[in-house]
Amino acid sequence: MALTFRGGIHVPEEKNTRTKGVRSFDNPRTVSIPMLQHIGAPCTPTVKKGDKVDMGQVIGEVTQGLGCPVHASVSGTVIGIEQKSNSMGVAVTHVIIENDMLGRVCPDIKPYSGSFTDITFDEVVDVVRRAGISGMGGATFPTYAKIQSAKDKVDTLIVNCAECEPYITANHRLLLEEPEAVIGGMKILLRALGIRCGDIAIEDNKPDAIKLIREMTKGSGYAEVKVLKTKYPQGDERQLIYAITGKEIPAGKLPADVGCVVFNAETCASVYRAFVYGMPLIKRIVTVDGDCIADPCSVKCPIGTPYRELIDFCGGTTEEYEYIVNGGPMMGQGQWDVDAPVTKGTSAVLVFASKDKAYEQPSTCIRCGRCVRACQMRLMPNYIALFSREGKYELCEQYDVMSCVECGACTYVCPGAVPITQLNRAAKAKINEKRRLMKGGVK
Ligand code: SF4
Ligand code: SF4
Repeated sequence: MALTFRGGIHVPEEKNTRTKGVRSFDNPRTVSIPMLQHIGAPCTPTVKKGDKVDMGQVIGEVTQGLGCPVHASVSGTVIGIEQKSNSMGVAVTHVIIENDMLGRVCPDIKPYSGSFTDITFDEVVDVVRRAGISGMGGATFPTYAKIQSAKDKVDTLIVNCAECEPYITANHRLLLEEPEAVIGGMKILLRALGIRCGDIAIEDNKPDAIKLIREMTKGSGYAEVKVLKTKYPQGDERQLIYAITGKEIPAGKLPADVGCVVFNAETCASVYRAFVYGMPLIKRIVTVDGDCIADPCSVKCPIGTPYRELIDFCGGTTEEYEYIVNGGPMMGQGQWDVDAPVTKGTSAVLVFASKDKAYEQPSTCIRCGRCVRACQMRLMPNYIALFSREGKYELCEQYDVMSCVECGACTYVCPGAVPITQLNRAAKAKINEKRRLMKGGVK
């Protein structure tokens, strides 16, 4: 029987691109590479306007704090270093490179020269950090730091192949087209953490991927395929860990605190490429879809590719678009700038001709309780939203709003069109702001 968790919802899949092979788009005219693409410290550019750069060359390095370097994703000339606002309104430095279309690879790019059977923990941390690998969806975390935090604490490694958001098929296609990279990366991570066997978790709406990975790992002793029920948000780390191990992560704790570590399928593939080809994370697979994309498909493109060029590569739009989402429709961020770049965390670019206006209409709670049943974190979203709307943030805190993972399930099921997730997000921001001020001694 497929494994699952309590709560959650069923959303229309809209996986229009699941049977289409990944297409490569290697030649955007320019790339705009943000110096901050993960949780942690921003990078400082190590290049200046006018410099020639090669693919894979370091162009930004973290000088202090948590973080990993950023690399040129194309070869060409640096034509600008600019401040731009991201979708959260935060100003971030970008290095802009004009592509010379030569695909010149940096001479520093070299495969791992040691023996894979003798690989050490420190070597894995070092290679993964230098390759600039960070988690692959939403607010990403540098992978080397995740490996470090798991050392001597975990006995369960899970490869997260769940793709529970509508539309997105990037992981599914990766499993079908580069299974050896996902499995190979997992083996490197298993070795680093001293774990014998990993769990490859795949939802039951991907029977072809389940069959393929089962065949490739059968009798290996290092991997077991775990089949998950297709439900939203099955890809959330907490729900994934519960579905597979039955362990619940207490509020404020991390997966490593219950002996688990979770790596996304694409993170595993990036680890494999860093070791086998020496190639840092400079490309990723992005699902380009929505109700007005002419030829939806998953596209492998350089980090920094502007959405506009990605949309053009997919045949443009069939009618004028009104709304772009960076990521899935449940947890993604609305994006106002069509020239915003693909980052390491961009799993999808969704383009819609009409925006759901529900959030802009007057909304009322009719006390149906659906949001409570849908909430995977066992919160009372109806009350939290009410308190947040009234500015009663202390009550929001008492009702544990900080445990809200902003999955959007409550908003999705709400017949009263209450923008619960947005209200929760606003309350969390207020509470975090208050905590920061108190920490800094500001009254
Ligand atoms: S789902 Fe919406 S209408 Fe129903 S209780 Fe929750 S907030 Fe109220
Ligand atoms: S957004 Fe928050 S409150 Fe709503 S279902 Fe998800 S975790 Fe629960």
